[in-house]
Order: sequence, then C-alpha cells, then structure tokens
Amino acid sequence: MSENNQTKNCGICGKLVIATPSAWVHEGAGTVEQKCRKCGWSGGQVGKFINCPRCGDATELVDDHTAS
Ligand SMILES: [Zn+2]
Ligand SMILES: [Zn+2]
Repeated sequence: MSENNQTKNCGICGKLVIATPSAWVHEGAGTVEQKCRKCGWSGGQVGKFINCPRCGDATELVDDHTAS
C-alpha cells in the first residue's frame, strides 16, 4: 500500500488539508471551514452544518474559509 494522498497545512487555519482532484479539503472535514459567531466554535464536515454543533444556533453559523 502506498501513500498517495498529498497533504499540507492549511494556509489559513494551519490544520492538515488533503489534496483531492477538485480541491484541498480539511482532514476529516469539508472544503469549507465553518465558524459560529455566537459561541466561537469552528470546524467542518463533509457537507455543511445547518446548526452550530455546540450551541445550536443557525443564524450565526457562517463560512469561515476554504481550505488552501
Ligand atoms: Zn483551514
Ligand atoms: Zn455556536
């Protein structure tokens, strides 16, 4: 088994990002890192959260940045 995944650290948040054919993706998460302006949570998943996983707010959860 060879390791073909190309990885580096995100230029914006410093987390590990993985190269996919279409874009850089945060490890275990989606292309876009989301941030809650209410409680300060940040993170992502494949797809997007509708509500903040920490406080449940839906209106203050915004896209923070795209993996780069
Ligand atoms: Zn990032
Ligand atoms: Zn929150």
